[in-house]
Amino acid sequence: MTRDAFETALAQALDTERGAERTGALLYAGLDGFRLVNEDHGLAHGDKVLAAATRQLRDVCGARVPMCRMAGDEFALWLNADTATCELLASRAAEALAGGVALDGQRYGAGVSVGVALFPVHGSSSQLIHRAAAAMRAVKRAGGGSHALFDPRFEIEQREELRIAQDLRQAIERRELDLVYQPKVEASSLQVTAVEALLRWRHPTLGMVSPARFIPIAEKHGLIEPIGNWVLAAALKQAAAWRKAGLRMRVAINVSGYQMRQDDFARRLEAGLRSHRLQPNRFTCEITESVAMEDTQVTRRAFARLGKIGVHVSIDDFGTGHSSLATLRRLPAQELKIDRAFIVDMVDDADARTIVEAVLTMARTLGLRVVAEGVETPAQRDALVRLGCDELQGYLFAKPMSARAIALWAMDAPTALAQSFRPSLFKETIITGSAPTEIMKR
Ligand code: C2E
Ligand code: MG
Ligand code: MG
Repeated sequence: MTRDAFETALAQALDTERGAERTGALLYAGLDGFRLVNEDHGLAHGDKVLAAATRQLRDVCGARVPMCRMAGDEFALWLNADTATCELLASRAAEALAGGVALDGQRYGAGVSVGVALFPVHGSSSQLIHRAAAAMRAVKRAGGGSHALFDPRFEIEQREELRIAQDLRQAIERRELDLVYQPKVEASSLQVTAVEALLRWRHPTLGMVSPARFIPIAEKHGLIEPIGNWVLAAALKQAAAWRKAGLRMRVAINVSGYQMRQDDFARRLEAGLRSHRLQPNRFTCEITESVAMEDTQVTRRAFARLGKIGVHVSIDDFGTGHSSLATLRRLPAQELKIDRAFIVDMVDDADARTIVEAVLTMARTLGLRVVAEGVETPAQRDALVRLGCDELQGYLFAKPMSARAIALWAMDAPTALAQSFRPSLFKETIITGSAPTEIMKR
């Protein structure tokens, strides 16, 4: 059904509903992770998957319900039923497509997010579509694969998101972005081996906005490319400055999935390393497990390029995604970072400890170093050292800090700023006895 026909059918249904005081619901279904299906299998196969998704939604909701494709991978359905039935069908739709759309014995995509707007409580026909779509987006923000009833909160969140996206467009020119750096220490010696660059945005009125909040928005609104390029350039420049000053530490950046798919990311990285005369193996790209495990042609190619350049590859937030051992083994990675969630729980929770142990054993077999992130207590540190974790990172050792603070700390400068850190950690990373220029030679 075309969108026009759907909207006409909807308006007619609502008209009669109003008279009869009946209820219904608009379901707005968006496939999760469908972009990857197109990327990996091509558009023609993507279309077959979409047709299969339509069939599966109809199987759940009824063969004759008015249904329309609203956008690439988004569908609207009108259900003529009471609220409880509509909600039940929405949850069944999410369940039926959990794990992806079934086609020829395979699953494609990750699932479906379903937003529900009720008639008459959530408004008239055009409002219903918008509101069900807003509910669907809220489900996606929360990770997808589920359903939600419209809530006015969703529209407020959506407006906020649009505002952030708008302001983010100007953040680079207005010099509102900055990098802070958090050390990684070697577990056995507690010496600093590396720093991770973390992005900060000082918004003129909202104050500090967390990257956990604005990076997903930047990705969604097509802004991650300039931001990622800015981070790369700034981190390379800083790494070169530290090198010149004689600080021998690896510098890591976080690379988003979108950057990995960006055609010229590897080329920029390689050119940047060369122009700053930095050794590739002293630079790390942290890529989250969920992106690393996408394992599409595009990500495979991106990983191969990083491997070829010779940068260090680290799998971030490990344990939160679904790793395939086969994929993990193929990746040109050197490091796994165990997600903070397991570290927080490991002292009191035997399951979390078992997972940490299993990750360590597996990493050893694969020849990967393991970094524990979010170490906050001496008890966590001791347990991780005992288990043979290679490197630790967390507030217990240092919070993310400015490049200047890192340098002051490293140089053991007697300033008020340096007093708040533990200078001893950095001593060994200051290179003595050799000229910085020599170290920079490949
Ligand atoms: P991540 O890469 O896993 O970074 C770890 C996050 O945990 C950082 O949050 C860090 O400040 C925080 N953290 C470190 N130690 C502790 C601890 O002991 N306790 C607690 N509670 N938290 C700790 P931050 O800086 O807010 O960054 C959040 C996420 O945003 C990062 O997670 C990363 O995925 C993303 N991000 C940050 N900078 C960038 C960037 O430049 N590019 C991209 N694409 N993503 C970035
Ligand atoms: Mg990271
Ligand atoms: Mg992490």
